[in-house]
Amino acid sequence: MLGRHGPRLWRVSDNETRDETRDTASDNSLGLDPLLLEILACPCPAHAPLRVDVDRQLLVCTECGRGFPVREGIPVMLLDEAV
Ligand SMILES: [Zn+2]
Repeated sequence: MLGRHGPRLWRVSDNETRDETRDTASDNSLGLDPLLLEILACPCPAHAPLRVDVDRQLLVCTECGRGFPVREGIPVMLLDEAV
């Protein structure tokens, strides 16, 4: 269930050229490190994991639905900033 994209990211050796054309796919994580995304949790009481909302450029809590903006590749995990 977790990260179907994960394993693909690590298997770049076989078709590197193809990987370059797929570079925009990294937008799926808003430029964030997948490992960082894994350890990030919402500051709400549930401390739920976050999903990436590419259209809105937000990290969205899977529990409370708050959206946290990502500024210059840095997630702003403040309830004050949540939308
Ligand atoms: Zn939350």
